[in-house]
Amino acid sequence: MPKKVIYIAGLGLIGSSLALAIKRGQPDYEILAYNRSQESRDIALKEGMVHAVTDDFAAFAPLADVIILALPIQQTLDFLEVLSQLELKDKVLITDAGSTKAQIVAEAEACLQDRPVRFVGGHPMAGSHKSGAIAADVTLFENAYYIFSPSSLTQPGTIEEMKEVLVGLKARFIELEAGEHDLVTSQISHFPHILASSLMEQAGHYRKDHPMTQHFAAGGFRDMTRIAESEPGMWTSILLTNRAAILERMEDFKNRLDQVAQLLQRGDEEAIWQFFNHGRELRKAMEIHKRAGVDSFYDIFINVPDEEDAILGILELLRGTSIVNIRINEENREDINGILQITFKNREDLEKSAKIVRENTKYQVFLD
Ligand code: NAD
Repeated sequence: MPKKVIYIAGLGLIGSSLALAIKRGQPDYEILAYNRSQESRDIALKEGMVHAVTDDFAAFAPLADVIILALPIQQTLDFLEVLSQLELKDKVLITDAGSTKAQIVAEAEACLQDRPVRFVGGHPMAGSHKSGAIAADVTLFENAYYIFSPSSLTQPGTIEEMKEVLVGLKARFIELEAGEHDLVTSQISHFPHILASSLMEQAGHYRKDHPMTQHFAAGGFRDMTRIAESEPGMWTSILLTNRAAILERMEDFKNRLDQVAQLLQRGDEEAIWQFFNHGRELRKAMEIHKRAGVDSFYDIFINVPDEEDAILGILELLRGTSIVNIRINEENREDINGILQITFKNREDLEKSAKIVRENTKYQVFLD
């Protein structure tokens, strides 16, 4: 495998996790990094994530075979412009990690079109509310979708070359045109974030007059609002760079809410039942929680009794299996099966663990 020089701009959660995962798959590559703040530069060097760091973006760019912009969207747009002014290696491969794609791909095409460079948009669909190199996680992208959005500067072989660079991520690589990417993510990611924050806003206001709101907010409400804890700066940039698609989804949703309100005003029992049933059928058919993608893992729910060491006993049985998350659903179990929720990274671990728990305990086990 020919040795490459990879230049990662931005040692945030995404950039530093990319550094670790690239190193895992391609240990011979040289990894250089730019970061604005010293803290993440120091962490990355100390932890051996990268070989050298700079606070001057232009300094390392001419040395790179591959440049990955893992910066907020606006900075990504600005740095594309900076790159267009620099003397880079011939056919350098430039990509990014931004959560929206059309504007970034259009900017790359506009400012790099006369340069001897290649560009493909990138979106690793994994992340969390954490930030900085301190949050670096070599497993962050495992089983997650990693989208490539081609541009007019993507040549035959460009995406294959990127996949080779990123082999250590163990991600699911997929190609999607930038505009289509932004439409799909407006529906399944951007609009739901607006909804989650609006629900929190509404509940926060309501609890002033109805204080028990706060105590009963669990189960479904918690699931629906978890993403309201996301980083506001990132989401502001996402909204501002995918305005038309998100506004269209909001209008569509308003109409849907109005239709449900009309059913309720009429007291139309049959239609209300159909409304819920249709949602249930659609969710089952889309197998939303069965796929590894954005925020999607494999859960088992175990009805454990409130006894000393019951949970410890289960964890002991699962020793050696990689567990993504454990949650004890104790406050309000109205809409959750099983008090102990264990999340795995893949179906194989889920099924193996469910079998072990069933064979060794009398507890009820539900697969999600
Ligand atoms: P982060 O906050 O952890 O890191 C951002 C990085 O950008 C840091 O290195 C920071 O120093 C740098 N930065 C910020 N403002 C800058 C400026 N004005 N000039 C120079 N550098 C600046 O963020 P992150 O989660 O790593 O996100 C990076 C990119 O990845 C964003 O475009 C985001 O949309 C995308 N992304 C994030 C997630 C996620 O869930 N976190 C998932 C997929 C894609």
